[in-house]
Amino acid sequence: MKYLIIGNGVAGVEAALAIRKNDPTANITIVTSSAYHFYYRPKLIEYLAGETTIEKFTLYKEEFYFKHRIEVIRNITITSLDPINHRISASDGQIFSYDKLLLATGATPFIPPIQGVTLPGIFTLRGISDANNLMQYCDKIKHLIIIGGGLLGLETAIAMKRFAKNIIVIENLEWLLPRQLDKKGSTILQAMLEKKGIQFEISEQVEEIYGNRKVEKIILKSGKILPADAVIISAGIRPRIELAKSAGIVTAKGIIVDDFMKTSNEDIFAAGDSAEHNGIVYGIYPAAREQGRIAGLNMSGEKTAYKKTIISNILKITGIDLYSAGEWNTDNATIYSCCDSNMYIKYLEKENPIGAIVVGDSHAIKVAQKVMEGKSSSHELLQLIKENQRINQSI
Ligand SMILES: Cc1cc2nc3c(=O)[nH]c(=O)nc-3n(C[C@H](O)[C@H](O)[C@H](O)COP(=O)(O)OP(=O)(O)OC[C@H]3O[C@@H](n4cnc5c(N)ncnc54)[C@H](O)[C@@H]3O)c2cc1C
Repeated sequence: MKYLIIGNGVAGVEAALAIRKNDPTANITIVTSSAYHFYYRPKLIEYLAGETTIEKFTLYKEEFYFKHRIEVIRNITITSLDPINHRISASDGQIFSYDKLLLATGATPFIPPIQGVTLPGIFTLRGISDANNLMQYCDKIKHLIIIGGGLLGLETAIAMKRFAKNIIVIENLEWLLPRQLDKKGSTILQAMLEKKGIQFEISEQVEEIYGNRKVEKIILKSGKILPADAVIISAGIRPRIELAKSAGIVTAKGIIVDDFMKTSNEDIFAAGDSAEHNGIVYGIYPAAREQGRIAGLNMSGEKTAYKKTIISNILKITGIDLYSAGEWNTDNATIYSCCDSNMYIKYLEKENPIGAIVVGDSHAIKVAQKVMEGKSSSHELLQLIKENQRINQSI
């Protein structure tokens, strides 16, 4: 059996491993446009901050693929898919055939259609080469603007502190991390980030990025003008669906898959940031890993259903503890919470845990995580909340 995987990210690699386990004689090939072997993408933040090296966060090197008899072809971009003849073609003219194909093509950063967005000095962050280009450009800059106050935007802002003296994050919604935090949690977080030297323009939209030959300033819709030597756009992702779409496979936000990670074509599967399952494009590492594993099992004949991943987020900023999981914006639950100016815990349950937010308390994060992952009851978390309420009342 000939298995072909497009994409050497976590979804692609996990699928290859599951196939190998199930089918010792399988012929497994991964093709990827990346020049690098499989690395842990979330570590790009530490790489930007100068706290790790590519060598350290490359998880699987040559020996790994050799040991598992997985052929990896790097630096090759697949440009078309012919599902009738079971073939894919690459930009250099190479053609590959398959019995089963996995589209683990990930996602690309979304670039909003802002005037001036193609000027030199404007960056996004997805892979090692983006980080290298960014670091090279930002070597001697003063003013850095980050468009987007999501997790990635905030982590990038802190990581870039060693390059730029003035860093401003622009967020067009009412508060930071609106998908992860309520307003109270976000206010505490913003104060913590401001203490670390990051400035914010909240509820502001970019009208134009201006510059003669490279970026020079940002003009906001409110009329404010911000100097900018470089800009990082961190405005979410778009799944890479173009190959699937042009081959007639059903797509929406992502490539639509069923519970077995199968697309609308019997022999083509999708997993990770490129896939949409039950209307959700997860865009997070644990979901990509699990979907890749499930896709690999099903491709190699072991029928296994994917169950949804509970979305949980941890902010990777030293000294700022933040955890958010599940739903926190519902009236249909009992809410327990406590807060002071540096800490906030909110927990929602209705028979079962529904959601949790923790800011500024690393111990409470561990407790909440266990509750949300179903590894312990909510007893200890509720005790913690009660204890904090008691302390705050007595102050
Ligand atoms: C800086 C950063 C920090 C992050 N931090 C976190 C975090 O803390 N927690 C978390 O849960 N998630 C985090 N994420 C998201 C997480 O990394 C992704 O959800 C996960 O890596 C997706 O894996 P994937 O295998 O689906 O896609 P990817 O890792 O993007 O892999 C896609 C692969 O497909 C290849 N490819 C695409 N199209 C083609 C083509 N046409 N031809 C050939 N090859 C192709 C690409 O080269 C790549 O190798 C972060 C992401 C970034 C960028």
